[in-house]
Amino acid sequence: MKRAIYPGSFDPVTNGHLDVVERARKLFDEVIVAVAHNDEKQPLFSLKERLNLLQQTVGKIDNVRIAQFDGLLVEFALQQKANAVLRGLRAVSDFEFEFQMALMNRKLEGNVETIFLMPKEEYTYLSSRLVKEIARLGGDVSKFVPSLVASALGKKFKG
Ligand code: ADP
Repeated sequence: MKRAIYPGSFDPVTNGHLDVVERARKLFDEVIVAVAHNDEKQPLFSLKERLNLLQQTVGKIDNVRIAQFDGLLVEFALQQKANAVLRGLRAVSDFEFEFQMALMNRKLEGNVETIFLMPKEEYTYLSSRLVKEIARLGGDVSKFVPSLVASALGKKFKG
């Protein structure tokens, strides 16, 4: 059984994340989308809201499961019997941080491999941060996120 963890904040899930999940689920028997608990980034959506949005979008896909985790990612991976951690790589700007994280995780646990997937070109500029910024300023985010997420963003910034 080849199982991979796709960790992140998912605040909120975007079409870029969905693209990565779609690619990953063809390579692995099971993909666990894991929402980070101990988020220092002060998320817009609560953990529960982020899990809900994921559940209603990617959670319905056959070999995809949604989970939450806190503590060390590699420990969570071992606990779930996963042999890979998936990360999306958009641009060179993602590389340095991801490179550091991947090598540090390898030092901590040599049996978990980090795998990078590149999204469709049209998603390479897409981030949860930008989507939130556009929504906050009243822009249309419907091309960047599932409709459910677009309306959740609308509600957050209404009034
Ligand atoms: P984190 O806070 O851990 O970076 P994110 O939710 O922002 O969490 O992203 C989770 C993962 O998804 C990261 O590997 C990130 O690079 C990747 N990702 C985010 N947006 C995209 C996108 N548009 N295309 C491909 N990968 C993406």
